[in-house]
Amino acid sequence: MYFRSGDEAPEFQARALDALRQPLESGTLTLARSEAASVFPARFQLVMAQNPCPCGNFGSTVRECTCRPDAVRRYGQRLSGPVRDRVDIRANVDAPTMADLDVAAEASKVVADRVAEARARQERRLRGTPWRCNGELPGPYLRRELKLPAAVTAPAFARVRDGSLTLRGVDRVLRVAWTIADLAGRDRPTADDVLRALSFRLGEAA
Ligand SMILES: [Zn+2]
Repeated sequence: MYFRSGDEAPEFQARALDALRQPLESGTLTLARSEAASVFPARFQLVMAQNPCPCGNFGSTVRECTCRPDAVRRYGQRLSGPVRDRVDIRANVDAPTMADLDVAAEASKVVADRVAEARARQERRLRGTPWRCNGELPGPYLRRELKLPAAVTAPAFARVRDGSLTLRGVDRVLRVAWTIADLAGRDRPTADDVLRALSFRLGEAA
């Protein structure tokens, strides 16, 4: 299932966004009533978009931002920490310019084939387990069965030591790093794949 929030995720009520935390974490939704609790499958892909500030121009090289600095900061914090913590890939996207129109985009078929190959690679690797793709892998399985050399995971643990990443964040970075490797046709992630996943995680990727 694919859930799309539209242009402005922060426009949703904080309670509605926070209700996504459990299904994002466990892939299930628990409805508790007085007598019993029912558990429903709820695995989905969440895609959210957010302007950089109320006027939308903060960081633009073309248009001027008219917002006060404290308004920009408040706007950036409207998605709660726990919700942001469950978003694995954060990318900054500039408004398209005329020059972008001249760049030939990769054909959808080429991208779709690459994704299908990456999914097939994950299914082969996870044959005999209850899981089919990297996003479903529990942390202990990632860390034990798919253990990577210390030199490869070093960039992630350096961010744990400087406080910019939690240990749960490391698991999330490693899942994305495996997917980056799968998309590139590599058998396992390199340190560069971990660095790339880390830049997505920390919102430093453009
Ligand atoms: Zn602005």
